[in-house]
Amino acid sequence: MSVRTKIVWEYAPAPESTDHVRLREDYGLFIGGEFRAPLDGRREPTINPATEEPIAQVAWAGEADLRAAVEAARGAQSAWAALPGRERGKYLFRIARLIQERARELAVVETMDGGKPLRESRDVDVPLAAAHFFHYAGWADKLSYGVGGRSVAPMGVVGQIVPWNFPLLMAAWKLAPALACGNTAILKPAETTPLTALLLAEIIQEAELPAGVVAIVPGDGATGAALVRSEGIDKFAFTGSTGVGRDIQAALAGKKIGLTLELGGKSANIVFEDAALDQAVEGIVNGIFFNQGHVCCAGSRLFIQESVADEVVTKLWDRMGRLRVGDPLDKNTDVGAINSAEQLERIEALVAAGEEEGAVRRSIACDVPERGYWFAPTLLTEVSPAHRVAVEEIFGPVVSVLTFRTQAEAIEKANNSRYGLAAGIWTDKGAKAFEVASALQAGVIWQNTYNHFDPTAAFGGYKESGFGREGGPAGLRPYLRVS
Ligand code: NAP
Ligand code: MG
Repeated sequence: MSVRTKIVWEYAPAPESTDHVRLREDYGLFIGGEFRAPLDGRREPTINPATEEPIAQVAWAGEADLRAAVEAARGAQSAWAALPGRERGKYLFRIARLIQERARELAVVETMDGGKPLRESRDVDVPLAAAHFFHYAGWADKLSYGVGGRSVAPMGVVGQIVPWNFPLLMAAWKLAPALACGNTAILKPAETTPLTALLLAEIIQEAELPAGVVAIVPGDGATGAALVRSEGIDKFAFTGSTGVGRDIQAALAGKKIGLTLELGGKSANIVFEDAALDQAVEGIVNGIFFNQGHVCCAGSRLFIQESVADEVVTKLWDRMGRLRVGDPLDKNTDVGAINSAEQLERIEALVAAGEEEGAVRRSIACDVPERGYWFAPTLLTEVSPAHRVAVEEIFGPVVSVLTFRTQAEAIEKANNSRYGLAAGIWTDKGAKAFEVASALQAGVIWQNTYNHFDPTAAFGGYKESGFGREGGPAGLRPYLRVS
């Protein structure tokens, strides 16, 4: 492993203020429109991964709490579904507006609880979460148009489980379409990042959503597993790892419960020799170092055409040296803290396996705080397609570089994965991009950009990246019975 010498120029610190954040010391479960104590009294701290300090105590839902949540959701469902779509839409518009009003607070809390740079929570997570509520608010009175003019009914009560990488945004992806379609929902946030979902519960209260329409039930994997096995749920939506997705699918098999799975990925970012290389390098950086690489669709397998491989790697390594790693609340930070000690361990173990198998590792030099979980942005070269770092999801700021000679080889190598979530294509030629995109097995394909999200566009996977789509009119389908 070689370590890059530190750059000499420095920025003054630009920390975002946290004075305006009014967190409670502890949060109950949000069930039946109110915050309740958990029946078994279990509370756990949620910590800031950049400091390892606890931020607040959070109630964890047990089986009896989940039964109460399902009962409340069931009780509220028919009246919610009976509202005219435009009335449900008004509630969703209100939630979207309240997210915008509390945007600064939500961004700071997202960054404190999860470790992502404030620049991202402020400019991406929170505005996109509001945009999803705005988008589906607009669909609430047009549901049958979203499914080709057929008649529709809600599924009923839906259970939803989200991961820790985009906590508020994933909650919005799940709740907005479910509510627009007339379902009531029970959402379990991830263990390490429950806070913005709980602030969203406050917003839902403030928007005066009828009691029981939404429940927020924090907890760990056991809470999630119990929710999956709860009686009285008509549809399940899960975003997380392929392993847990498989477990959920097995648990629900034969039960006539609707299921959508948004799972892992090992997405290919393909750079052709005719691409604008400087622009491609920006896209590679955004593709893999955005949110510390904790992105299901991260461009973690970088395929570069052999004729420009050395040039691209040189430019990329140079650009990586200018990434600022550190305090996520600093507005100049590009790469924040790794979400948890467990995730850090997973990244370290996989990168070590990569080195053992023969990959050459380069990590940028960075001064990181003494406490907290950090991993320097890392470039792996001499990677072969069989190496674990080319096959398994690292879910960290690590890019594996592979090369190809021809377009056909690029397609073959990119598709040689059990995943199929996203891909990036960098080329000057529209026809080439179109041909390659048509041959790639990936749910989302970007041309000359990467990690570009929009509520109007469907998102979802092929193969072990899952099934079902979220976003746009396609995102209505899993929440509706269509006849
Ligand atoms: P994970 O372990 O699968 O966790 C996801 C969620 O499921 C969390 O809320 C988790 O709770 C819960 N959970 C854990 N075990 C469960 C079980 N047996 N039954 C039901 N729920 C359970 O995934 P992760 O490591 O947190 O997240 C990273 C993974 O998510 C990556 O593989 C990534 O690719 C994938 N992801 C996919 C998308 C997408 O849209 N396709 C988006 C983001 C992330 P705890 O937090 O308490 O463990
Ligand atoms: Mg946390």
